Amino acid sequence: MPNPIEAAELRVGFIGLGIMGRPMVRNLLKADFPVTVWNRSRPGIEECLSAGASEAGSPREVAEASDIVITMVTDSPDVEQVALGPGGILEAARTGLVHIDMSTISPEVTREVARKLASKGAAMLDAPVSGGDKGAIEGTLSIMVGGEADVFQRCLPVFQAMGKRITHQGPHGSGQACKLCNQIVVALNLLAVSECMVFAQKQGLNLGKMLEAVGGGAASSWGLVNLGPRMAQRDFAPGFMVKLQQKDLRLALEAAAQGTLPLPGTALTHQLFRVVEALGGGDLGTQALVTALEQMGQLEVKG
Ligand code: NAP
Repeated sequence: MPNPIEAAELRVGFIGLGIMGRPMVRNLLKADFPVTVWNRSRPGIEECLSAGASEAGSPREVAEASDIVITMVTDSPDVEQVALGPGGILEAARTGLVHIDMSTISPEVTREVARKLASKGAAMLDAPVSGGDKGAIEGTLSIMVGGEADVFQRCLPVFQAMGKRITHQGPHGSGQACKLCNQIVVALNLLAVSECMVFAQKQGLNLGKMLEAVGGGAASSWGLVNLGPRMAQRDFAPGFMVKLQQKDLRLALEAAAQGTLPLPGTALTHQLFRVVEALGGGDLGTQALVTALEQMGQLEVKG
């Protein structure tokens, strides 16, 4: 935790008040940072104002009022829009300003945004996160950071208000590349869990007992322990939406394609998530991957 004097010295701006952004703002306020927010639509703004944040009229105005401006929006074009577009952060870029992008986006787009900000004297860090909405609420996110080491050190108190494991990965784009490593493991693990669930169903196993046994051994994983029971209960409410997982797998496949690197497991899982999307499940949680395998196996997993 930063001490209150350090916190008061850094004025933080926050753009993108969705599932992740809102609790991250609350944790910054709890750590005594003055926070100025902007969001495209009203509901996120109202919640943050009632928690003690101030409001600005555009991303540019947020940057004018801040030393560090954080973005937590959806995809690469959205970061380009709020950072480089009309009324964006770049219009207020100056020496001393740091833009920290915590969205999951393309490493290449990150490097381009960093170059444009640097041309006006401002610094950038890419700092995507893992840990889901639970990690955002509890302030326990894993934060993977790319950019210059001295800028990372300066921003550390801000990261410590939102996360627990904070790692400097290397130059611009390496935080995003690390996050895509994370997403490859998460997605392929979820495919393994989904196959395990349809196989267990076909074998007539008690799914709860199977999950208890497998979750206590070498095959245990976050996906098995947290999402296996939800598959068994047919609870497909989103923690992390299928459409966002698809964005991340697309980013990983695009980055790999630039270096002619085959990622066969990632490509397969991307296609199976597409089956879920074709079935109308893009807004469901990623545990809905099991429904694609149910279609192929002509059965339904039931706890
Ligand atoms: P979300 O709830 O959909 O929120 C997205 C936010 O970005 C909203 O405030 C939205 O504004 C804003 N936004 C999107 N496009 C914009 C644009 N072009 N201009 C201005 N504002 C724009 O998403 P989230 O779950 O918070 O995820 C945010 C980022 O974190 C994504 O990159 C995601 O991959 C990553 N992430 C999410 C999780 C998770 O568990 N949810 C975990 C790790 C990482 P409106 O409110 O007006 O729509």
